[in-house]
Amino acid sequence: MPSCKICDSQNTALQRLDDTEVVLCKDCEATFLANIPPEQELAEYYEGNYRITAQEYIATEKRRLFRFPEQIKLIAKLAQLKPPPASVLDIGCDKGYFLDEIRRYGYAVMGVEPSSAARLYCTNIGIEVKNSTDELNGTYDIITMWHTLEHIGDPVGFLNRVQNHLAAKGLMAIRVPDYGCLWRKIFRDHWVWFQPRNHYFHYTEKALRQLLQVVGFEVIQIQSQRPNDSLTDKAYRLAARTFGKYWNDRISLKKKIGKIYEGVTGIELYALAIKK
Ligand SMILES: [Zn+2]
Repeated sequence: MPSCKICDSQNTALQRLDDTEVVLCKDCEATFLANIPPEQELAEYYEGNYRITAQEYIATEKRRLFRFPEQIKLIAKLAQLKPPPASVLDIGCDKGYFLDEIRRYGYAVMGVEPSSAARLYCTNIGIEVKNSTDELNGTYDIITMWHTLEHIGDPVGFLNRVQNHLAAKGLMAIRVPDYGCLWRKIFRDHWVWFQPRNHYFHYTEKALRQLLQVVGFEVIQIQSQRPNDSLTDKAYRLAARTFGKYWNDRISLKKKIGKIYEGVTGIELYALAIKK
């Protein structure tokens, strides 16, 4: 039986969810794929699956508009603990939505993103992005990872490397799917964020706390939350109406239903930790 990749426990069990085999740690509650593909395959996956087209530029702006309340909520929380001026490193920054907002508040920003198309997009809007943490130099006051850790097959090794780029007493902010939430238990492998193609690791509150402690962080808070509140729903509808009117860009019924499903069942963990 494979041992736990977070707490080293031998008290693990193999589970089969549809055609995916996962390892569950009965001690820290971490769940991870029994066969995690090599890092190279993950790099190729991101390289091959994302591209920017003209339509994508428009879709990106629409997305930026509807995620505005979510970003402000995140920034306000971080600014209470580390007010600007300070530096922020966002790992898995996608098209720089978060960095683009937080830099306006007086933060110096840097991103890490494996997708070359998303990196190109960031460069075009003036945000510097590296394709891997190996290319980073220096330290940052805040490191954020929004829905990034679930893509990492060796979270202990990864966080140990990443924290070399966090300043002393620096702040680590993490959001991951909440594998312990009720919807995951109901939907099992049909849960919105059970995506074995690219989500290798799953965390309950206990597992995430264990991981942060193993790599030497002081955990300030971990909470289970709905990432999007009613303000985001309103912003989504406003973006849909605005882009529908001026860009003739309508949302299909299938997408609308998908959005509602994700909004209801997509529960995440939000963690804040300090480098000791
Ligand atoms: Zn464990």
